[in-house]
Amino acid sequence: MKTFCGRANPTTGSMEWIEEDENYDYHQEIARSRYADMLHDKDRNVKYYQGIRAAVSRVKERGEKAIVLDIGTGTGLLSMMAASAGADFCYAIEVFKPMANAAVKIVEKNGFCDKIKVINKHSTEVTVGPDGDMQCRANILVTELFDTELIGEGALPTYEHAHRYLVQEGCEAVPHRATVYVQLVESKRMWSWNKLFPVHVEAEDGEKIIVSPSEVEDCPGVPSVCDIQLNQMPSSDFTILSDVVTMFSVDFSKPVRSASTYYRVQLEPVKSGKAQIVLSWWDIDMDPSGMINCTMAPYWVKSSSAFQWRDHWMQCVYFLPNEEPVLQGEKVYLTACRDEYSVWYKLQKARGEEEDKADVRVESPVCRCQAHLLWNRPRFGELNDQNRTRQYIKSLMKVLKTDSVCLCISDGSLLPVLAHYLGAKQVQCFFLQRVPLYFPSPFFKANHLEDKIKIIEARPELLTSSHLGDKKISVLVGEPFFTTSLLPWHNLYFWYARTAVTSHLTSDVTVLPQSACLHMMIVEFQDLWRIRSPCGTCEGFDVQTMDDMIKNSLNFRESKEAEPHPLWEYPCKSLSDPQEVLTFDFRKTVPQHCLSTEGSVNLLRKGKSHGAVLWMEYHLAADVSVSTGLMQISNEKGNCERNPHCKQAVYFFSSVIESEALSHLPSAVTYAINFNTKTGEIAMDFKL
Ligand code: SAH
Repeated sequence: MKTFCGRANPTTGSMEWIEEDENYDYHQEIARSRYADMLHDKDRNVKYYQGIRAAVSRVKERGEKAIVLDIGTGTGLLSMMAASAGADFCYAIEVFKPMANAAVKIVEKNGFCDKIKVINKHSTEVTVGPDGDMQCRANILVTELFDTELIGEGALPTYEHAHRYLVQEGCEAVPHRATVYVQLVESKRMWSWNKLFPVHVEAEDGEKIIVSPSEVEDCPGVPSVCDIQLNQMPSSDFTILSDVVTMFSVDFSKPVRSASTYYRVQLEPVKSGKAQIVLSWWDIDMDPSGMINCTMAPYWVKSSSAFQWRDHWMQCVYFLPNEEPVLQGEKVYLTACRDEYSVWYKLQKARGEEEDKADVRVESPVCRCQAHLLWNRPRFGELNDQNRTRQYIKSLMKVLKTDSVCLCISDGSLLPVLAHYLGAKQVQCFFLQRVPLYFPSPFFKANHLEDKIKIIEARPELLTSSHLGDKKISVLVGEPFFTTSLLPWHNLYFWYARTAVTSHLTSDVTVLPQSACLHMMIVEFQDLWRIRSPCGTCEGFDVQTMDDMIKNSLNFRESKEAEPHPLWEYPCKSLSDPQEVLTFDFRKTVPQHCLSTEGSVNLLRKGKSHGAVLWMEYHLAADVSVSTGLMQISNEKGNCERNPHCKQAVYFFSSVIESEALSHLPSAVTYAINFNTKTGEIAMDFKL
């Protein structure tokens, strides 16, 4: 069956109705799911298996039957482990229908039909009793319901309910316990993801400093967790201010309370500095003794031998509401507050106990300044990148004249302010804002520019000459950045907007950036390949059904799609030189016809061709460019340095070519790439 879905096209900006197969969402969810990554997580799987075996033995030693409840069974893996370990019966609960169906097939294929009952329900809907889903309550509770923040996928309410209705008192739980750890750090790099730093501009009439409004300074930001591959953060990018301390732990074998609460620890800073960030991760003990431990601790905390790459569990970065100076040895209190699904932090100087108590209830952070709604964390980082700003300053200086009339099209950009300062204040500045937010006007106000920069709240196609005071635009600028962009080419919306405002431009208009160029490179990933690679067997269980299901979902659309990933978190080495594949000339309007290219790219290094990485380079003005992908290939081995603020597009090849020697390699990969100017979509095909 087909259904019609309405959406704003991220590239063309137009509202469109597309006919979607009703299974589209299913397939998207499966294709982009973390199941493959979990199945590749050897450390996790081995430890679950050990923990499950130990739990089954303990129950058997007590002379009881081992009845297992596996909540969120996914592929059925943990139930199959339990059945193999000698469990008498397993109830495998899975709410996501396609997964429950897959679990049924996988359980059958592995010969566990008589031991495992797959139930396609949310655990809170499961009934117990002679006519119920479960004959009786279970005495072993097995789950893997954790996200990077531990509780973000609803583990606490699920456990709370299970203890109340589905398991026996004194049951065994695998994992037995989870512990959340924190460490206080100062980090200009991470702090730049949450606050706006002053921007220094060398203008003709002296240095100007663009300041951040107090609204942004005082705003705690958005509540969502910032989860990253902290192992990719070099130690030079942060200063450790405290030891690692245990913030809280949860015993899963006892009744769990999910209601909001707080935890508080005393910290003695090991160094003086500015407390800005709380880094956090957790570990799980699979058994009560704590001998079987699976940890997310980052590289500076754990031994390298314990290292397991995984993407389904990473580490958390929490921003304190404000930076607090701390002194070495002078105690401070760190409070973690949590509701059912998320955690946030607050730091206080040691004070009288009464005062402490009064202060403990901390509200979940909500962005009041709107800047955090307009800009996500990488975007804050990008705006704070002085090197990047310098490129824009350099190019604006080249193109602005004293009588320029300037229009900026980008979501929440500093460009109008830069243009104003660099244009010796004669420049007329308009700022086209398609997002109906109060920000950035406080930003213009804080810099006393509210009369100088006119914000026009209109979509480009609705721009009229009266908006512009009957002036024609001589300089059109954009970063370009749009909040709706996911893939690099979605920012080509700037080109469509430029086309829509053509009648308001002078005949010799300068457009900055003047063009964009799509670049491509063939790469071998250090680890990211795992998330899309088939697993075959997992701890001796045949999970090929899952592989097939993912493959089917990936091929659901006629052409495979590229997916966005921030590659600074996912190291790869280049197997080819970067290659320019398509150019988009913003000085002209968007053409009617498609832009296509075909060619081949030579493989220069040995390695596994996992896929192609694509990114945009913007040519701002003559000799000034900014890259949203590759910054440089840093050594002979082909290791790459990436733009730390942008996501690149990754196109995973359906089969991986591996070779030890170059002579065995296909010396080139051929490609065909097509940009459909009507739909704004880029289709690509590669042959190895
Ligand atoms: N146990 C599997 C899969 C873990 S992923 C493994 O370890 O490999 C977690 C799964 O739990 C997802 O498939 C999700 O759909 C399911 N899930 C989460 N909460 C649930 C709940 N309360 N009841 C039933 N299924 C749940």
